[in-house]
Amino acid sequence: MFTREEYENFEREYLAPYAQKSGDTRGRRHREPEHPWRTVYQRDRDRIVHCRAFRRLEYKTQVFVNSEGDHYRTRLTHTMEVAVIGRTVARILKLNEDLTEAIGLVHDVGHPPFGHTGETTLNKLMANHGGFEHNLQSLRVVDELERKYPDFSGLNLSWEVREGIMKHQTEYDRSAYPIEGLKNNPGLEAQIINFADEIAYSTHDIDDGLLSGLLTEEMLMEIEAWNESNAGFLAKYPQADSEIKRYYAVRNLINYLVSDLIRHSAEMIDRNNIQNIDDVRNSRVPLIGFSPEAAAGTRRLKDFLYRNMYLHPRVTAKNTKAGRIITELFQHLLKDPGLLSSTSRKKLDKKPPYRVVCDYIAGMTDRYALLKYKEFFDIEDDLNIM
Ligand code: MG
Repeated sequence: MFTREEYENFEREYLAPYAQKSGDTRGRRHREPEHPWRTVYQRDRDRIVHCRAFRRLEYKTQVFVNSEGDHYRTRLTHTMEVAVIGRTVARILKLNEDLTEAIGLVHDVGHPPFGHTGETTLNKLMANHGGFEHNLQSLRVVDELERKYPDFSGLNLSWEVREGIMKHQTEYDRSAYPIEGLKNNPGLEAQIINFADEIAYSTHDIDDGLLSGLLTEEMLMEIEAWNESNAGFLAKYPQADSEIKRYYAVRNLINYLVSDLIRHSAEMIDRNNIQNIDDVRNSRVPLIGFSPEAAAGTRRLKDFLYRNMYLHPRVTAKNTKAGRIITELFQHLLKDPGLLSSTSRKKLDKKPPYRVVCDYIAGMTDRYALLKYKEFFDIEDDLNIM
């Protein structure tokens, strides 16, 4: 049997000197006894998977088209793709795979219903009350909103996972963060998740875009990386059906981006003479990243997705509706807080009503938000938004 101490020693021996070792954690906000078998990050990962906000990811979407059928990504399957891509990169770079996985699994738990529209709408509604941002909300979920333990609220996750949740938000005012000791960069494990997220959504959105008919193979011809990755396959299997072609192209694109990320990051770590985790956090440049060519390719890809998918009339029409639903729910609940859940109502003694209403709505799944909307406004028809 492998005890926790033995596993911690194993990490010290086999991981890179700049990897975050579980035995060197800055610990949890509330002291707890260690587990005999599992390291601090393995426990964090398990706590995340067993929490309610994680389960709700199943009924939250990123792009509306996702919820038009059972084959599209949900925020839960997106999260799983991010976690497995992250683990691959971490393992090959000899970084902490458990920490990377935990950050990947938790990275979207603060996302409100209705994807990006939900976030921008809540941010607008909260403009004079502290705003709304999904990374900060993820932190609120794990620090405060989950209730599973008698002695503290939240999941009491380790400092490094909490640091990872805030990952890339350098453009925001750091003093607003309820985390002490953040430096220029988070650990490499958190930086990996930032890119694993980008790889996952840009490739799966192409896949879902093609499946839904919003995108066509002809449209994708403008993407160089797409053409390159398909050329060899098409020469070998000219008769392959469109589904097989799509799967091939998507997995090939993931493989290209992941391989580039690994190679370029290893080079950056080397070039910047990174010796330990303090060097990582104090570095003036992020150390995980794509090569300039792949970075330009992903920018073109994202631009393509914006133009053709995220701003597609079929998607934006639903976004407009979703924004209105969130706004009306918000105002209705603010006017009549008696309609809040009993858990949320109890918070009104301690928190301003705006924040309580915002947390309540942010926690909703898409379908629950629709259900409440129909209930409050006595609507019987299908809202045709899912
Ligand atoms: Mg994400």
